[in-house]
Amino acid sequence: MTEQPDSQHIVIVGGGMTGGLLAVLLAEQGLDVTVLDGAPAPVMPSGPAQLRVSTLTEASYWLLQNSGVWEHLDMSRVQPYDAMQVWDQDGTGEVLFRAEEVGAQSLGWLLENGHLAAALYRRAADFANLDWRCNAAVDSARREEGGWQVRAGDQSWQADLLVGADGARSRVRDWAGISGGARDSGHHALVATISTALPHDACARQVFMESGPLALLPLYSDPQQGEQRQCSIVWSGWPERIAQLREKAPADFAAELQAGVGDALGEVALLSDRAVFPIQERHASSYVAAGLALVGDAAHVIHPLAGQGVNLGLLDAAVLAEEVERAVGSGRSCADSAALARYQRRRRGENLIMQNAMRGFQHLFGQRALPVRWLRNTGMRWVNQGGPLKRLFASQAMGRGADLPARARPQYPGA
Ligand SMILES: Cc1cc2nc3c(=O)[nH]c(=O)nc-3n(C[C@H](O)[C@H](O)[C@H](O)COP(=O)(O)OP(=O)(O)OC[C@H]3O[C@@H](n4cnc5c(N)ncnc54)[C@H](O)[C@@H]3O)c2cc1C
Repeated sequence: MTEQPDSQHIVIVGGGMTGGLLAVLLAEQGLDVTVLDGAPAPVMPSGPAQLRVSTLTEASYWLLQNSGVWEHLDMSRVQPYDAMQVWDQDGTGEVLFRAEEVGAQSLGWLLENGHLAAALYRRAADFANLDWRCNAAVDSARREEGGWQVRAGDQSWQADLLVGADGARSRVRDWAGISGGARDSGHHALVATISTALPHDACARQVFMESGPLALLPLYSDPQQGEQRQCSIVWSGWPERIAQLREKAPADFAAELQAGVGDALGEVALLSDRAVFPIQERHASSYVAAGLALVGDAAHVIHPLAGQGVNLGLLDAAVLAEEVERAVGSGRSCADSAALARYQRRRRGENLIMQNAMRGFQHLFGQRALPVRWLRNTGMRWVNQGGPLKRLFASQAMGRGADLPARARPQYPGA
């Protein structure tokens, strides 16, 4: 059966973390919004921690607070961290960031991706003008006079503004004829949950090893494992090395991990399966086309070594919502081309800088040459002494920036 195309203002393809937040922000403005996602409805996690987790910055925290999403989270599964330690495995350089050095209580928060998706889905249920369809994989989108026609199975929707929030392999991007700009980072990432003999003390750790960076991210306390004794790991490296690590017996894997981490967390043990993700960086040649915008991983994918991907996506969503609000508020269309161009201008440069910074770190810490090792360890010791550069690094990691959307700031009205 083919339905008559509904008349909707905005159709968002993809109800992941980026698309979900955008939907809530646009629905708050009273616009008619449809979200189409190919996956089943997200559910609140219970039991062992999920493998896919994200570190959220201060800017993301305020976005979620100011849009009424944070209150839908189960706080027993959210772990704030107030310190961040970065060191070079074969050197003497180390940087330790503390929240109080930048006048904050937390440097960030760690939570499961599925958990945030479920909280967004719950918040979305508050809006009668937001129609969120699950199990609705979009299989075509075509530009027609006055808008886009989007199809999922035997249903179709008419959109004044079509948003691609459909992740790294975005089909919306393809349908708009925008190049995805893929580039192999040369790394794969292994994720797993581990237990530690010593508490993580709400500290996020990152060690740069010869084979690539290893992040140890503090997970919420699980009554089975004890107070602060679980971490989520993201171990990146060359594909052969990561495949080897995945195949090792759990005890041998833990021994390799121990060699990398040293005694910072006492004895470590593997608690979960290991999952591996190829890291293909992308940057779309444009974030916008006539009546269309790309957000989140559909627009850019960066190396996960500093845990910034979701955070950039949430800022894309907030800036796009802000520009749409400004256009509609002054009597223009939600797909106004000047508004879309401003969205692109505000986000593309920032995302590009972050992507290049991640490439730079990957390259710098992948060098074996003695002079480079000496330089980076000296640099780390120097940064660690404090001063403006250390505060600048911490501020960047927390998502503090000059052009933040209003909802990403603590002083947002109604906060
Ligand atoms: C190992 C690893 C660790 C990471 N750690 C961090 C971290 O600590 N912090 C951080 O900020 N980022 C991190 N990232 C990056 C982060 O996971 C991504 O940036 C983020 O998931 C992107 O969210 P998104 O909503 O844009 O896209 P996605 O999460 O990919 O969501 C896309 C959505 O679109 C839907 N979809 C796709 N195609 C269609 C279609 N045709 N029709 C309908 N629906 C469709 C999918 O079902 C999905 O729900 C990490 C990435 C990796 C690989």
